[in-house]
Amino acid sequence: MAIALLLASSVHADIDPKNFDTSVKPQDDFYQYANGGWRKANPIPAAYSGWGVFNEIDERNKVELHTILDRAAAAKNPGFIEKLVGDFYASGMDEKAIEAVGLTPVQSELAQIAGLKDISQLPAFLGHLHLLRVGAGFGFSSEPDPSNSTMAIATSWQGGLGLPDRDYYFRTDDQSKKIREQYVAHIAKMFELAGEAPAIAESEAAAVMKLETALAQASRNHAALRDPLANFNKMSVANLQKLTPHFAWADYLAAIGVPNPGEIDIGQPEFFTAFDAQLTATPLADWQAYLRWNFLGSVANDLSTPFVNENFAFYGKTLGGTLELQERWKRILGMVNGNMGEALGQLYVAEYFPPASKTRALELVGNLRAALRERLQTLEWMDAPTRAAAIKKLDALNVKIGYPDKWRDYSKLVIDRGPFVLNALRAREFNSHYQLNKIGQPVDRAEWGMTPPTVNAYYNPNLNEIVFPAGILQPPFFDAKADDPVNYGAIGAIIGHEMTHGFDDQGRQYDGAGNLHDWWSPASTAMFKERTARIIKQFNDYTVLDNLHLNGEVTQGENIADLGGVKLAYAAMEKALAGHSREPRGGFTPEQRFFLSFATNWRINERPEGLRQQVLTNEHSPGRFRANGPLSNLPEFWQAFNVPEGAPMRRSLADQVTIW
Ligand SMILES: [Zn+2]
Repeated sequence: MAIALLLASSVHADIDPKNFDTSVKPQDDFYQYANGGWRKANPIPAAYSGWGVFNEIDERNKVELHTILDRAAAAKNPGFIEKLVGDFYASGMDEKAIEAVGLTPVQSELAQIAGLKDISQLPAFLGHLHLLRVGAGFGFSSEPDPSNSTMAIATSWQGGLGLPDRDYYFRTDDQSKKIREQYVAHIAKMFELAGEAPAIAESEAAAVMKLETALAQASRNHAALRDPLANFNKMSVANLQKLTPHFAWADYLAAIGVPNPGEIDIGQPEFFTAFDAQLTATPLADWQAYLRWNFLGSVANDLSTPFVNENFAFYGKTLGGTLELQERWKRILGMVNGNMGEALGQLYVAEYFPPASKTRALELVGNLRAALRERLQTLEWMDAPTRAAAIKKLDALNVKIGYPDKWRDYSKLVIDRGPFVLNALRAREFNSHYQLNKIGQPVDRAEWGMTPPTVNAYYNPNLNEIVFPAGILQPPFFDAKADDPVNYGAIGAIIGHEMTHGFDDQGRQYDGAGNLHDWWSPASTAMFKERTARIIKQFNDYTVLDNLHLNGEVTQGENIADLGGVKLAYAAMEKALAGHSREPRGGFTPEQRFFLSFATNWRINERPEGLRQQVLTNEHSPGRFRANGPLSNLPEFWQAFNVPEGAPMRRSLADQVTIW
């Protein structure tokens, strides 16, 4: 693929008319106008369910990381970090050895599942599986205490489902029914690959589906999970034990190495009640089938080709519409990043993240922060006490750029040249202990939640921080050499987006210290909710495929952030341009170039299957709506492109929303 040969150093961010589709007017569909040419020239490669700007950058990163890994694997006298990632990568690339050993390295795990004699052994064994990151039953880890963000506590939440979301178990349309049938067939196929007779595999798969459906029935839907207060339920182990009388928490906690966790945040108590009921309602043999399925599904990608292919056939092809598997080196690279990303990240930033990028990115963040501060000072709908608290929260916002100041310590992680699946399981266990060891300890505010090569960014409400890994600070999002309209339109809007998350439907419920604490007056809350209700309606009204609508409730946080992000970035650019030349370039004003650059952020081609899955499971709206949704509300955009009243890209005054 041509893009894979382009190295970052040869790519620059700029407005390129080749990417336009001039058969469409900006006022009718700005997304298509700005990106139609690019979309036509960039069909989806067979190994992807969609292809967009995030993939373009990620693909360049992969080429760079590939060089690093090949070099590390071949190094004669590697340092510790080089040896760690080099050995892991080499064992994952050793296809011959992986095919030769098949399931042998994990037979002892399967034997343990088969050897369970009584449901009372489940808690300890589930603890063991959770250390291996096998997601059976429920989730368990640590988190900053939502009511005291300086300390980490234990947290447990609903889980244990193999389909992407609980609603997949209950939708009644033909397509959803078919996916459920294919899912059960996939589970049976995995059992057969593990050596079971077809008839037994089939009946066990049906039992797994029955148990998962019961867990799904008790699971909250995506919209209900958005409410941080309703999903914060701290209780003592003694009270948790009363909630789930058939599950010996002492055994589970001993198995994960946290015998005395203190209070645990049980996100969804009613789920645990239902989980407990299944311990008596579901026969042990069915639980064993469920554990076997969870284990096999979890390690499938670390095993031989039949398992990898079967896993891909369902999760890649059926759910995502992807036509073929990614090349092995890309898949293993993804696992290096997932399992030891701060080791790989050290080698990556040393070579590929220029210090100038950090300086320029910090300058952009500073100007975005100033724009939001100004906005908070003048916002018409907030009362004075809420305004003062909002400004205080913004002033406390922490910013992280590029990579962590201190790296994680991997010295206790044992990696060798194979078998690969055992390397993967040791890395998972190492990472589980790393998270669990935080329980009862002060929160380390220097820690990062994404690895440096990641092409993404985040706002963490518990720490009130925005974080931009080196991976995303690249063209076309960001270019230290590009002019202001290009940088503010692209990365500036993303920075503004992350900042706005601190003030979206979820983020606004946390204060500047990262605690769940209501700092809003009832009047300002009412004004905020009136505005978000209109955002929810706008996005509910968008149709994506056939009659599949966006879920305005689930996507509201991202949509609020998109709208705020582009507005703030625009204000910051206007400030940065003051006193500078405003000459048009390539026939476009700085304002027009800003919006063209903004639209670049969302260019993408998607397969219908992948798009459907995104709409049903993801809180981000598809690219088209992330561009056109915010801009149709933005007078600054209407002005830049002379969008007349009544045009599709200009909402009526009654419909238009401004929040931040
Ligand atoms: Zn976001």
